[in-house]
Amino acid sequence: MSGDKAPALVSAPSDLIYYHVKDSSPVDPEVKKGYQERYIHSEIYKHFPEINSVVHSHSEAVLPFTMNGVPMKPAFHIAGFLGTEVPNFDIKPLYQDGDVQSMLVNSERFGSYLASKFSKSKMAQLDHNVVLMKNHGFTTVGKSIKQVVYRAVYTHVNANVQSNAIISRNAHLGTHTSVSSLATKTSGRLGDELIYLDEDQTLGCMQMNDSTQERPWGLWEREVEVCPLYVNKAKFQQER
Ligand SMILES: [Zn+2]
Repeated sequence: MSGDKAPALVSAPSDLIYYHVKDSSPVDPEVKKGYQERYIHSEIYKHFPEINSVVHSHSEAVLPFTMNGVPMKPAFHIAGFLGTEVPNFDIKPLYQDGDVQSMLVNSERFGSYLASKFSKSKMAQLDHNVVLMKNHGFTTVGKSIKQVVYRAVYTHVNANVQSNAIISRNAHLGTHTSVSSLATKTSGRLGDELIYLDEDQTLGCMQMNDSTQERPWGLWEREVEVCPLYVNKAKFQQER
């Protein structure tokens, strides 16, 4: 993981810290301080061996869906990986007397509970690719870095699309419409429905997106290469 730096500032292998999956302890006991929330990653890797990459985000577009009672739903064909249900992890019930309620997933216990939200059946299998985290953000998983970055970016985009759909619909129908009726597909007059992808569409779109990830990845890679914020010292040394 990205040591004690913001991930965008990582510029060389020496900026990384390696951890054991079994308990998130550093491989080098003398290493500098790292991220407290590394347990998000280690517990997911521990419970789902097919997962090789995890992204945790505090996306401001996603945050409202962690606390407003509106379920996040797949709004368009690029977000089929969301499935028809996105669970919401709440850390509050896990706190015991004396705990500092920082909201951080900074223990095996918290991380294990978060990992359990990715499965419908006691971690027997991975059923969800994205889990919201109440008043905190979200976590998404993938078989590769490319897949998980794609999912993280489009979870954020989907949240913006869904929010705009709700806002524009409310503006059209009037603000008297209740949140509960917004959250579910309802029958009625034209314009009364928020229509999301159904189960068959989520599966079909996920399959399609998994086969086309190279295109957006190539763009994002280029954006990083040409933006002065990002420095790649390893590449610089090679070129010299
Ligand atoms: Zn966090």
